[in-house]
Amino acid sequence: MNSQSTTLSAPAIAGGEPLKRTPFGSAPRYGAEELAELQSALAQQTLFYASGRKVRQLEETFASKLGFAHAVATSSGTASIHAALIALGVSPGDEVIVPPITDMGSIAPVLFQGAVPIFADLDPRTYNLTAETIAARLTTKTRAIIAVHLAGNPCDMRTIRDVAERRGVAVVEDCAQAHGTRYMDEPVGKYGALGCYSFNEFKHISCGDGGIVVTDDADLARRLRLATDKGYDRTPNVTVRAPQFLSNNYRMTELQGAVALAQFRKLDNIISRRHRWAEALTRRLTGLPGLLLPPTTPGGMHSYWFYLLRIDSSVLHVDADAFATAMNAEGIPVKAHYIGQPIYEYPVFKKHSAFAHAEHPFSVHNYASGDCPVAEDILKHGVVMPINEAYTADDLDETASAFGRVTEWFSKQGPSDKSF
Ligand SMILES: *Cc1c(COP(=O)(O)O)cnc(C)c1O
Repeated sequence: MNSQSTTLSAPAIAGGEPLKRTPFGSAPRYGAEELAELQSALAQQTLFYASGRKVRQLEETFASKLGFAHAVATSSGTASIHAALIALGVSPGDEVIVPPITDMGSIAPVLFQGAVPIFADLDPRTYNLTAETIAARLTTKTRAIIAVHLAGNPCDMRTIRDVAERRGVAVVEDCAQAHGTRYMDEPVGKYGALGCYSFNEFKHISCGDGGIVVTDDADLARRLRLATDKGYDRTPNVTVRAPQFLSNNYRMTELQGAVALAQFRKLDNIISRRHRWAEALTRRLTGLPGLLLPPTTPGGMHSYWFYLLRIDSSVLHVDADAFATAMNAEGIPVKAHYIGQPIYEYPVFKKHSAFAHAEHPFSVHNYASGDCPVAEDILKHGVVMPINEAYTADDLDETASAFGRVTEWFSKQGPSDKSF
């Protein structure tokens, strides 16, 4: 069967044969390398970061490979961001500008500092904050900006840094979805004061849970250490260890450090495979009717933690849910919308219910639907294609054919004819 006749045949939702004939490629995540590091961690007879070698080795390798002066390991991506905000001195009543499409782990740390998350809108195509949308939300209370590199596509950090510097506001880069992402030939994290990474189970590389923060600033690095270890200064020969400011226990154990170390050695390979597959997908989907494909930010290298496209409903007479259903019927595991609603629509914001009783400082701010119309539109029309480094050339062919067949089908339906 040639691809032309495949494309013209009825989609699986209308009785056709599903186009995906073989399972998507998959590969084990953990293997002999992780086991060897774990055994060597246990053989140390300590799993505490300050007395073992694994966490320190992870920090040293991560910092030197990415070209940072300092890296501090943490217990999660959320902990990384919280430690960064503590190190920067974000305090109750401060405002922190954040994007409305991200993981709650980007936002919860702002609330834990008693600060007020202020949601700024996104670029309609890169899905990231921009200098303009940030500028529209800056006030005299703004203390920091959390720039999330969504899906692995870098924010336009030059313009964001410019607007932040003009106003004396710190930038935290949330790199949780952006291992291996580059911007202006540097790993992400370089343009902000700090870059925060996650090693949770679902990220490019993982140690179950864990994180790491990179910075070139020695004083921020010193404060990060305190911020992740209850404020205790464990520098050898330091006599005054008593905490000077509020910190949490966000320590990484030697077991996590061991696995993360083995995983980090696999990162380049994981990134180049994901990048190649996803860029090839873009080439195959270019020209299909009604698909708005994700462009990489100029000067950027996208690491494709996932692939987020939008459907143009003026061309395809279908909503994202029905589009995803049709793709699923073909055997392609896309999902509509990414997250179901912008973060500011979560009950915790709309009802100001951070704590069971007593007010949180964010209660002065009203969070309402319509606050970020572009972000709402992105979620409404968004379709997420998962990406994995083990995906094959056959997976690419079948995925592209399914997009071709489904877009052709829906572009031929009338605007009012959504039945199939
Ligand atoms: C995963 C993620 C986090 C939180 O990381 P955890 O390790 O799960 O705490 C924060 N921000 C973004 C953008 C993420 O994708």
